Amino acid sequence: MTLLFRDVFYLDCSTEQSRRGDILVEGNRVEKIAAPRTLPDADETIDGKGTMALLPAFVNCHTHAAMTLLRGLGEEKPLMEWLKERIWPLEAHLTPEDIYWGTMAAMVEMVSCGVGCFSDMYFEMSEVARASQEIGMRCGLCRGLMQDDRKRLDENLSLFDQWHGKNGRVTVQLGPHAPYTVALGFLQDVTGIAKERGIHVHTHFLETKWELDYLKNDLGMTPTEYLDTSGLLDVPGLILAHCVWLPPETAAVLPKSVTIVHNPKSNLKLGSGVFPWKEFRELGVPVALGTDGAASNNRLDMLDEARFASLLHKGQTLDPTESRAWDVLRAATLTGYRALGFENTGLIREGWTADFALFDLDSPRYIGADETNLAEFIVYSGSSRDVKGTMVDGKWAYRDGVYSVDAADALERARETRRSLIRRATE
Ligand SMILES: [Zn+2]
Repeated sequence: MTLLFRDVFYLDCSTEQSRRGDILVEGNRVEKIAAPRTLPDADETIDGKGTMALLPAFVNCHTHAAMTLLRGLGEEKPLMEWLKERIWPLEAHLTPEDIYWGTMAAMVEMVSCGVGCFSDMYFEMSEVARASQEIGMRCGLCRGLMQDDRKRLDENLSLFDQWHGKNGRVTVQLGPHAPYTVALGFLQDVTGIAKERGIHVHTHFLETKWELDYLKNDLGMTPTEYLDTSGLLDVPGLILAHCVWLPPETAAVLPKSVTIVHNPKSNLKLGSGVFPWKEFRELGVPVALGTDGAASNNRLDMLDEARFASLLHKGQTLDPTESRAWDVLRAATLTGYRALGFENTGLIREGWTADFALFDLDSPRYIGADETNLAEFIVYSGSSRDVKGTMVDGKWAYRDGVYSVDAADALERARETRRSLIRRATE
């Protein structure tokens, strides 16, 4: 099966300039890229006529997908109060089937916004893996590990054995939740296993100021000492979510395999602060973007997150050249795929996988968009409402309002799941 995108603008995020051309997809790969209107028709040809754009599909690099079931609960509370009073009591009642439908609702939302890949930390992760295969999204999965719970670690390890590398669309990490929820000795065991077995680690780190004080007052450690003592600096790959309160000078000790995931909207909504992106970027640390769970954002819309990040950091640093459109798009695409271990994915390039967000530029807000300014038009004028299709690994997960799964049924099941969850938790 071949598919030709004829005469489309495309932004591969490896250079700031976008281009215009014909893009031929064969199977799950980009076979050829050529000048506009030079390639012959394929099995299917989509004629962009210069009013469509292809971007790499977005990556939501830190989320808790099934939290779609908890959206709107305990709004406008500080992190610990919100977790302890509203989130954890409900999460204690979640069944595997609940997780399946909550995740499915999240994925329907994400693919309609051009998101082709997500990195999830939650529980009942085999259900998440199964749901992701049905809709056809890529994902990086980890079981959230708490206290010194060996059973959860065993679940995370069997998830790795069963799903890591599956169909080239799933990777599995180990998921110690955060310094304040995981015993240090247990974390040392987790990082030891990660090193021994070559498994990457995904954890929350210094989301709130309270955590920085906790490290200092309760553990008597600086962030660097904690990262070092816990073994996190030595694991083969490390995803650190949030890092709002990580001192930039810590960048000097971070390993090359680290990616920080910036969740600007969740951090602001929970009153946690603003991650110092400029400082970390200048020190060469890769930064991806994520939404965090739907209960703390509340959207799962990566273009919205990218736009927000760009505006936030321009205002924060009093510098309009900060967090440029091209930078935030790369953070929302290529950097995320790399963090999750997907190779040859995240650029529009011959031989790379066909993972795309297809944008419709035929609207007033794109008058004047061309090769020189596409990134800026997409980030500042555009919206995920302009997404016509989301392709993952050569297959459409979403196209023109039609999903690869029965979306109406999934949403109804998620609504019913939420009602029943709240009923069970309050009985
Ligand atoms: Zn999180």
